[in-house]
Amino acid sequence: MRCSRTSPTPPGRITQTPWKTGNSNFTTECSSSRPRNTSSWSTPAWDPARIPDRGNITGNLYEELRPHLESNVGVNNTNVGPSDSVNYIIHTHLHGDHVGWNLRYSGGMPAPNFRRARYVMSRPDYDYFTSAEGRQRFPYIDRQVMPLRRLRLQQILEEPEHTISDEISIAPAPGHTPGHQVVLINSNGQRGVVMGDVLHTIAQISEPTWCAGVDTDKEQSAASRGRLLDAAEEGDWIICAGHFPPGKQIGKIARVDGKRVWQPL
Ligand SMILES: [Zn+2]
Repeated sequence: MRCSRTSPTPPGRITQTPWKTGNSNFTTECSSSRPRNTSSWSTPAWDPARIPDRGNITGNLYEELRPHLESNVGVNNTNVGPSDSVNYIIHTHLHGDHVGWNLRYSGGMPAPNFRRARYVMSRPDYDYFTSAEGRQRFPYIDRQVMPLRRLRLQQILEEPEHTISDEISIAPAPGHTPGHQVVLINSNGQRGVVMGDVLHTIAQISEPTWCAGVDTDKEQSAASRGRLLDAAEEGDWIICAGHFPPGKQIGKIARVDGKRVWQPL
């Protein structure tokens, strides 16, 4: 597994972290709109009225990803673009800063940014976010998630464990949301994990019981984080933590004076 980083991205912009594994190209995405890492931090409660853009973060993922996509998909067909080489969009969970760029709109009609991809999400998150209460609380769901089914691009995982390929699998890590999941990578003798929002700040590496204010079940969140950090340290996994500060989003766990510390790669 090789990792590369993009240049630092200012808060409020899309943060992307491309990984290249043996047979797979892999990019993690999230908005970097949360506060920078501090030892004492809180995440504001989700209030669309107070944070009007929070549920409508779309960005232009196609343009952000273009340099990392295959420039030539092997055919001389002007109807085939680099975004067609993406075959999976794996959602760790359905918060707006993670799904806000599923679809773009033209004339009021939704179109996928990645028309040949399957948009993968867990059943518990789908049910939670698309309930009547969920759609009211998270208004972006109607624009960025609900149309996927009609477009036949949605894949809801009924089981918590799922295999995407020989190198990529999905495992449950609930707590931040009911169906939060992580992506596990096993490639060329190295293992890695895309943590999603299991981690929000570097402080949680040494203090895994610290939880984000928006976690739906903080006890469960802390348990998921503790279990994954244990496995990552024991297995020397590469960790991708998209909400960590730009330039520090990929790393490993090290020990200094018996205490876990973050070691960016
Ligand atoms: Zn989240």
